[in-house]
Amino acid sequence: MNVLIVDDDLIDREHIKRVLLKGDSSCNIVNAETVDDGLNKLKAQNFDVILLDYNLPQRLGIEFLEEFSSDNALSSTAVIMISTSEEENLALQCIQSGAQDFLTKAEISTFRLRRAILNVTARHELEQKLYKSYQRAKELAEIDSLTGLANRYVFDLSLKQGILNHRRGINSLALMLIDLDHFKYVNDTYGHDVGDQLLKDVVERVKTSVRDNELFARLGGDEFAVTLTNLTKPEDAAFLANRIINLLEEPFVINDVTIKTGASIGIAIHPDDGADSKELFRNADIALYRSKDLGRNQFTFFEQEMQNQFLSDYNLEIDLASALDKNELTLVYQPVFDIITSEITGVEALLRWKVKDTFIPPDTFIPIAEKSGSIVSIGRWVILEAIKQLYDFNKHRTCHISMAINLSPVQLADIYLIKDIEDCLQQHDIAPELIEFELTETTLLIDNSQSIHTIQAISDLGCKIALDDFGTGFSSLSHLQDYPINTVKIDKSLIASISEKERSKKLVQGMVELIKSLDLEAVAEGVEYQEQLALCKKMNINKVQGYYFEKPIPADMLKSKYLQ
Ligand code: C2E
Ligand code: CA
Ligand code: CA
Repeated sequence: MNVLIVDDDLIDREHIKRVLLKGDSSCNIVNAETVDDGLNKLKAQNFDVILLDYNLPQRLGIEFLEEFSSDNALSSTAVIMISTSEEENLALQCIQSGAQDFLTKAEISTFRLRRAILNVTARHELEQKLYKSYQRAKELAEIDSLTGLANRYVFDLSLKQGILNHRRGINSLALMLIDLDHFKYVNDTYGHDVGDQLLKDVVERVKTSVRDNELFARLGGDEFAVTLTNLTKPEDAAFLANRIINLLEEPFVINDVTIKTGASIGIAIHPDDGADSKELFRNADIALYRSKDLGRNQFTFFEQEMQNQFLSDYNLEIDLASALDKNELTLVYQPVFDIITSEITGVEALLRWKVKDTFIPPDTFIPIAEKSGSIVSIGRWVILEAIKQLYDFNKHRTCHISMAINLSPVQLADIYLIKDIEDCLQQHDIAPELIEFELTETTLLIDNSQSIHTIQAISDLGCKIALDDFGTGFSSLSHLQDYPINTVKIDKSLIASISEKERSKKLVQGMVELIKSLDLEAVAEGVEYQEQLALCKKMNINKVQGYYFEKPIPADMLKSKYLQ
């Protein structure tokens, strides 16, 4: 055992030495006479125990203790303080400063000293274990274990500190939120191991362009953040954002799989875009969402206008949640006609929302309902209402008309959808083939097994499926084969241009030929002029719908005008 005795009194030192050697003759003892002498000897050699006199010349033993403890939090050396004083306060003070035990000089005997050494080494070992696990817990609480970046907790603290510093006029600051594009897809397709590796690889690349004074943190999932301090102009933030986007351009190769990702970035600058960290965060988030809405893989600075848009969407979202209960939603019906006979063959149900005296267009509120999820209950109401109405339309007719109902992609994830449709058809005794659900192409593009399953289940019920707005999206013809589609509705923007542009006419002509060659029905929507109708006839389109015939109108009006 290596023991360091720090005591200026030669007689005391010799006494301690004798006592120590009596208990353990192999003990290696080193002497020091002052605090500085002791600290120097500690640098040269490791000791198991230090016996430290409280009363030392120049500097007191307790100063040794304080210096030693702050530099050697993890050291395995135990310290026993020795003093002539029996004062309890002093003993306590020494223990608080890092000593493991306290003995008075009068107490020193072989037995007492040995027992004290045994006790302190055991206790000290325990303390070290505790300290290490505390350090580990602290690390876990502050560091993201996957990427080694600071976590959200540390980031929040540092952002708050940055804002305080700015208030003191030290620097200006930008908050950059980064969200990886298509990360969920990677996780779902290739598994979490690949997803985790992608996160690590992304961090390695981005790290190369983040400076030391910029805190780069992982907030959770595929969300990252950077605070830029000492910002002289917003362009500095734009520069970094651009670099990050460029760095992620190159695909990643993980387990032989090539993965393309990208980053959507939102930037907010303090103090203009947020007085405190909460507001800054919210606005950077709004900017991030704008980047995503604009097609991802880009950065956007927060602007006040976005906040206004966000607030008005938010208010609409709140109002929409109670629209059903307040009976503010109604359906109107637009007739669809056979192009040859000009007879009505069916109607399309279109949703209307009237708040006080104003109508809010479906193109405004439906995307909001989709984002908030309220489209699921609203869409369910539309289905029930339209089917009930169809019963009423057909009850005195021998030739039954059909009902087209628009379905949002969000509704395809509703596990109750099929059962709801089935029950409602049964309740009103409606033949399933009279109901056609309209889906847009982008819905079909979402490569999601639940959606595919739901579409197939609708078809299995006997209902029809129409591909809506054909010609606006990818117009991928493979969809016409891959899904159980009965009808294709050619988008009104194409119909609007057939009478004006020769090219559009040819395009639509080709589309119709293909649709018909697959034994599907072609419907033209948005027919407004006689000329367009004539062209549709020439092209062999089956059915037409548009203002040329009729606008969407209330059920009563439809009945009196068309179903008498
Ligand atoms: P959509 O499914 O393409 O519906 C046709 C839209 O074209 C309707 O707009 C209709 O009023 C309009 N329209 C009909 N004929 C003409 C015409 O000759 N010229 C022009 N310029 N427009 C015509 P609306 O009612 O404003 O609906 C807009 C969109 O909102 C719909 O487009 C549909 O995507 C969505 N939507 C409406 N009701 C529902 C619903 O109940 N559920 C869901 N998920 N979406 C709905
Ligand atoms: Ca439609
Ligand atoms: Ca349409």
